[in-house]
Amino acid sequence: MNKIKKNDTVYVLTGRDKGKTGKVFRVMPKKDRALVEGINYIKKHTRKTKQDQQGGIVQKESAIHISNVAIFCKGCSKPTRVGINVLADGTRSRFCKRCKEAI
Ligand SMILES: [Zn+2]
Repeated sequence: MNKIKKNDTVYVLTGRDKGKTGKVFRVMPKKDRALVEGINYIKKHTRKTKQDQQGGIVQKESAIHISNVAIFCKGCSKPTRVGINVLADGTRSRFCKRCKEAI
């Protein structure tokens, strides 16, 4: 089970956006990377194409390695470690190791 899922709020631990939080909008489990809204922006220069007559610079999120982010717990308003509970019927749920709130 991946600890980070789509729509999670994460806190950036390292890099240019250190200290920021954002919402995950895409997870790439095979690459251990995630795309987070407003985090790790890259400027991309685009050429003029038939669709885009102007070309120019586009800002776009670039994937961040999941080891560089932590789940941000709304219960304690801090980045936290995630624990996983396995219930008797096999269902798993995630919780904040700090305040024990479900994530
Ligand atoms: Zn918490």
